[in-house]
Amino acid sequence: MVASPRQLPSVVYGPWSTRYDFGGWHPLTPRRFGPGLELLRALGADRELPPEPATDDELERVHAPEYVRIVRRFSVDTGSPPAAGIGPGDDPPFAGMHEAAAAVAGGSLAAMEAILAGREAHAFHPGGGLHHAMPARASGFCVYNDVALAIARARAAGLRVLYVDLDVHHGDGVQAIFWDDPGVLTVSLHESGRHLFPGTGFVEEIGGAVAAGTKVNVPLEPGTADRDWLAAFERLVPVLAAVHAPDVLVTQHGSDSHAWDPLANLALSTRAMERAARRLDTLSHRYAAGRWLATGGGGYDAYRVVSRAWGLVWSAQAHRSVPERTPLAWRTRWADEARRYGQAPLPPHYLDGEEVAETSPPGVAGRDAATLAQALRASVPALLRGWEAEAARGIPAEGPLPSADLPVTIGRVGDALPAGLRLGRGVTPVGDAADAIGAVSVALREGGRATLAIADGVIVGLVLIGRPRQLVDPADPWLLRPRVEELVTVGVAAPWRRHGLAARLLREALDEPALADRLVVGMATTAERDPFEPASLPERLGAARRLLAGAGFVETAPQPGAVTPPGGAVTAVWSGPRVDPADRESPSRRPIPPG
Ligand SMILES: [Zn+2]
Repeated sequence: MVASPRQLPSVVYGPWSTRYDFGGWHPLTPRRFGPGLELLRALGADRELPPEPATDDELERVHAPEYVRIVRRFSVDTGSPPAAGIGPGDDPPFAGMHEAAAAVAGGSLAAMEAILAGREAHAFHPGGGLHHAMPARASGFCVYNDVALAIARARAAGLRVLYVDLDVHHGDGVQAIFWDDPGVLTVSLHESGRHLFPGTGFVEEIGGAVAAGTKVNVPLEPGTADRDWLAAFERLVPVLAAVHAPDVLVTQHGSDSHAWDPLANLALSTRAMERAARRLDTLSHRYAAGRWLATGGGGYDAYRVVSRAWGLVWSAQAHRSVPERTPLAWRTRWADEARRYGQAPLPPHYLDGEEVAETSPPGVAGRDAATLAQALRASVPALLRGWEAEAARGIPAEGPLPSADLPVTIGRVGDALPAGLRLGRGVTPVGDAADAIGAVSVALREGGRATLAIADGVIVGLVLIGRPRQLVDPADPWLLRPRVEELVTVGVAAPWRRHGLAARLLREALDEPALADRLVVGMATTAERDPFEPASLPERLGAARRLLAGAGFVETAPQPGAVTPPGGAVTAVWSGPRVDPADRESPSRRPIPPG
């Protein structure tokens, strides 16, 4: 059976869902399923996928067998001494804990199976999103990491995964589990770990080994409201989808980022949550053939916020607009219970009004913008900097790589790519070939120059030099100088690397009369990588350093006032033959003050 385009997304929910229950006092309460499911059904959700406990074999795809054994012990003997994060505090033992937690995992796994088999396009698991669970430790109300298990299942099928975590807390467990896997790009927007559990999720956390640059964090200031949160989301997430070219999206929509949440201090409204969910829907169709598993995550205002947040995510997945008003019958039905827990009255509208402000308190916006600039530097390649997805998208144009024995032709293009050329995989740091072609085309229209290596109609090498476009870091002193051009991208498909082709292309590109009186600045950050077969970060930076030095670039110290890219960077400057000697970059003369 194949998902029909008009089929509504299924909701993962059943008798097991409410058994994940740490006790009456605990903030992650199964009471949220009452008003939450009723609202989803009122919106039209008519297909439910009841979860069943995952098997030990399934759990052990990301969890240590010893840890599963410990959880099983607590499940039957809640008096066992504290171990593996289970004990008094966030994750107290309860009877049946193993089975209930395994069922949350089983729900996300079943949804992913249905998506991979084509039975579902989108699925929503409101009880899923237990993103803090570590391989051998419970943490932050999370016993088994259902989202990581679903991602691991997709990875086992060879798929690339984009994981977007919108919970107010850093998605630390998922990040840790896929730290070294470049096939999983994780991006987490959260309240800064300086103020909130789990105390991690800083911009410097970029991923290990060959995965450097695929773990992206935006730690936001307490008080951050819709405008600044959405600015971060919109500037990062669509671009990262283009960079990563995912086959499936897994998302966590914790509504504890809401202004009314009792456990945290961001100040979002349901307006921002709905915008984000709609954008993720668009991205899932554009990049991942609609494959999208969304989860509910945290959220501790169970009556006023969580239900509506779930409704907004499901409606985005159902491609339905949200009604203006919540049902009167729903508000009446849950009024007393909400009052008893201090979460009344139930809001009459899905989207918050002026009672939740759009703008953050003074000072917050500036600090959030500085954090965002760092995250962008570490994760977005120069080719997509200031990129507007809608304007830049080219025709689908990835070509299979020809044999590396075929002759290569090198040529320069000034205003448009020749028609009919296809782009070899791994030539640019943008995984989606249509977006890569689109971004190159925009740069050429804006006066950039491309030097291409072509074999059998496929671009197997590319150097792009152009005027710096809209900048991540408007204060970057280098790019504010007159007569400066940027080395936007240099890349060669994997079979042609280590044969001097990149160096040849770069020399050819610089041997250009129009550049004779220019400085050309090249910056390699963690973002400049082959999205499919990345080398380790030291190898990448080393290769960039050798390539640039070989072409006559001089490495410079970081400029005062520039954003420091997390993970390190190589910045180097080439001076054209007619540049005044006083303006040239030389090893003895750095750093250059802003001109
Ligand atoms: Zn959709």
